[in-house]
Amino acid sequence: MNFNDYFYLQRYSIAKKGAILAYNSAIKHQHLDESELKELSWQKTKKLLMHAYENVEWYHETFKKLDLHPNDISKPEYYAQVPILKRQDIICNFEKFIAKGTGSKDLNYITTGGSSGEPLKIGVNKHRIREVQKWQMFNWWDTPLNANIASVYRGLPLGGLKALALGGINWPQKVIRLDATQITPDKIKNFITKYKRIRPKIIHGYVGAVDAIADYILEYNITFDFKPNAIWLTAAPVTKVQESKISKAFNNASICDQYGCSEIYFIASECTHKKGLHIFADSVKLEIVDNSNKIVDYNQQGKIILTNLDEYSFPLIRYENGDEGRLLKERCTCGMSLPLLGKVKGRISDNLILPDGTILSGEYLTTIFDDYTDIVRQFQIVQKKDLSITVKICLYDINKSHRINKEIYKQLETRIDKQVPFKIEIVTKIESNKGKLRYIIKEN
Ligand SMILES: [Zn+2]
Repeated sequence: MNFNDYFYLQRYSIAKKGAILAYNSAIKHQHLDESELKELSWQKTKKLLMHAYENVEWYHETFKKLDLHPNDISKPEYYAQVPILKRQDIICNFEKFIAKGTGSKDLNYITTGGSSGEPLKIGVNKHRIREVQKWQMFNWWDTPLNANIASVYRGLPLGGLKALALGGINWPQKVIRLDATQITPDKIKNFITKYKRIRPKIIHGYVGAVDAIADYILEYNITFDFKPNAIWLTAAPVTKVQESKISKAFNNASICDQYGCSEIYFIASECTHKKGLHIFADSVKLEIVDNSNKIVDYNQQGKIILTNLDEYSFPLIRYENGDEGRLLKERCTCGMSLPLLGKVKGRISDNLILPDGTILSGEYLTTIFDDYTDIVRQFQIVQKKDLSITVKICLYDINKSHRINKEIYKQLETRIDKQVPFKIEIVTKIESNKGKLRYIIKEN
């Protein structure tokens, strides 16, 4: 660790103890042998299971009902006996997930809306250092931990004393922010002025919001004489169309796709080699299962099941977060042993269904423009209540509309097979919803 990072973590430790140790461990873990990493994950899993059984009402009751004891889960192969935890289980039994001895002052609460409507609330231990994986990613990008950042995220920074304290810890780091939920051309313009001034090494933000800024930059031919080390995108899958556009707007900077959810923020992230998303396997266990909850093989698409190995106050064990993904068997060329997750291309709810039961998967639909990143600026696929499908496309050059129309029509026509009305609309703009751009919308 260099002196700058050490100094940063020292100061961070004033607020939360153990930052240096946590960071050093994470860096060590990412280079463990595959078998050592698996063993580490398994030891942490067993410890968490025992804790949950002894201290968390939900898991105690669930295990009792099944006549199961954590000691029965003596090998990794038996872990699948632990039942899958659904969103609804937490919504209906919130209090039962709080571990014995956890006071309300020990917990922060995270509420997530989700596309299904009913909000979900979970607790996270306030004292736990939740930024380790962020620091780890900075390490991958060869970026100092206190580098200047341009942040395009929801909400505003903390006010008052807390902000002052954080400012002190982070000094001399500069952070500029744009609220992703309220983006206007004026705010983008102002943001770009500040961006040029602080020359950030990292841009971090919602895909949809950064996408809107990229559009603005390209539209007004704004250029920069520097580029960030990484553009860290989150909150939605990044399509190739966006990746190409955003990189172009910011002087060909490299794009890093990070995957997480509100419940577990850091799950996996691309390194600079971009062979897939490295799973932070020392802190989260990720399984992929089919519709009958059986573990699937590498490269097979299935439901993502997560266990947060570091959260003891409000444990999430085998939690189904509603996303789909697949594990890759290949190893990354960067030399890290952290396993790879394929790009998470859609939520289960993004699948479109045709009258005869055919599923047009979200995973497929978000890739139909992959070969046209030089032509297509944005897209959105909408299925109306009557099941009719509209593909909206926004182009760089309107003269190319004939070609793209023809090719996309051909691709979808055979799959839709005249079962529902289907049309392509060339539009000038696709609005994002509070900074989140949705590629696939099912109207109910
Ligand atoms: Zn890598």
